[in-house]
Amino acid sequence: MALIVQKYGGTSVGDIERIKNVAQRAIRAKEAGNDVIVVVSAMAGETDKLINLAHELTPLPNVRELDVLISTGEQISVALVSMAIKSMGHEVKSYLGHQIPIQTDSAYGKARITHVKSDTILKDVKVGKIVVVAGFQGIDDKGNITTLGRGGSDTTAVAMAVALKADVCEIFTDVDGIYTTDPNVCEKARKLGKISYDEMLEMASLGAKVLQIRAVEFAKKYHVPIHVRASFNDNFGTLVCQEDEEMENVVVSGVTCDKNEAKITITKVPDKPGVAHRLFGAIANANIMVDMIIQNVSDEGLTDITFTVIKTDLSKATNIVGKMAREIGAKDINTDENIAKVSIVGTGMRSHSGVASAMFGALAKEGINIMMISTSEIKISCIIESKYTELAVRALHDAFQLDKKVFTKDDPISTP
Ligand code: ADP
Ligand code: ASP
Ligand code: MG
Repeated sequence: MALIVQKYGGTSVGDIERIKNVAQRAIRAKEAGNDVIVVVSAMAGETDKLINLAHELTPLPNVRELDVLISTGEQISVALVSMAIKSMGHEVKSYLGHQIPIQTDSAYGKARITHVKSDTILKDVKVGKIVVVAGFQGIDDKGNITTLGRGGSDTTAVAMAVALKADVCEIFTDVDGIYTTDPNVCEKARKLGKISYDEMLEMASLGAKVLQIRAVEFAKKYHVPIHVRASFNDNFGTLVCQEDEEMENVVVSGVTCDKNEAKITITKVPDKPGVAHRLFGAIANANIMVDMIIQNVSDEGLTDITFTVIKTDLSKATNIVGKMAREIGAKDINTDENIAKVSIVGTGMRSHSGVASAMFGALAKEGINIMMISTSEIKISCIIESKYTELAVRALHDAFQLDKKVFTKDDPISTP
């Protein structure tokens, strides 16, 4: 008998028919002799609706109260899924984050799970109940409700799998696995049989929202295999697991895009020691994550600094940078929200030359200008104008022929 954690995303619980489908799937797993813990997200669109309500009231809602509000989406789902399971004749019990509890730090809106208590749930499971857990939410050590960031139910599922020592964590979603790129952007996208934790970490952090990045971090740390699959069929999906030799050979396995960032440029910054530290120190103190940073070569003791933050942090970051710019004697600030980050990802890139120039060539061929570039061992990212995102994704997917197979060390690199 196995212990299975199944997570169903927003689309999979999007209406009553789909909720019945989730109940049936959970019951099927139970009747096959497994212990079953189901983690559910809010119904599709519900979290956005709640966030919009808060913003109708005030442009900067209080973060504590925002978490109280947006955690309610998952409360609706656990109740409905549990009712459906019960109505089909099975024993079931729903849990909210604080009832388990799923303990987190106090970073509202992006809280990290610190501990999951497992005994209450295991007691229910032992007496034959299916347990349904609200994703996305937790409680801090002062009893405040917290949420885990967008897509956070994935992390709830993996954390439950770790705490309960589950045999597998299944993530049921609206696509049937992890693809070489977002199948909703590029119709030539191809499903992967497996992908390493590291590649999935890069893909997730570069915009592939199919899994939340922290879910993959957790899974990697505790060696939990994640099986990403469709809630609408029984096909095998994609296994996210430890890297093996076959994967090492892969130079480019995927293309991602992310329209969630905005860039800020500060012009004519005095080029002297300590300035970057003061600037980015102030931004870090406000709990704002900075992604790419570029600083120009200094001209007459002055330089320009450009960096990106997530769009929802743009106004907060601009306020801080404005204040700092005056203090450090910089000239101007300008911001641009119409940007996108396109990236290519692959473990074998670290030992292969020519990949970057092939990427730049593919973008150039489409007349797409690159505004910023950043690289790591296993990825290359470019910031471009957001209107070219889909075109860039398709061009890169074609350039590395990802529709046919993964791009390996044996493939010739052709620069267009
Ligand atoms: P859920 O509501 O089930 O959590 P999400 O919308 O968060 O689902 O994630 C699934 C979506 O992720 C897909 O519909 C797809 O558009 C997107 N996606 C982005 N990149 C990829 C990829 N490489 N493979 C599969 N899906 C991807
Ligand atoms: N409901 C939350 C969101 O929309 C969490 C999730 O779906 O995973 O981001
Ligand atoms: Mg999701």
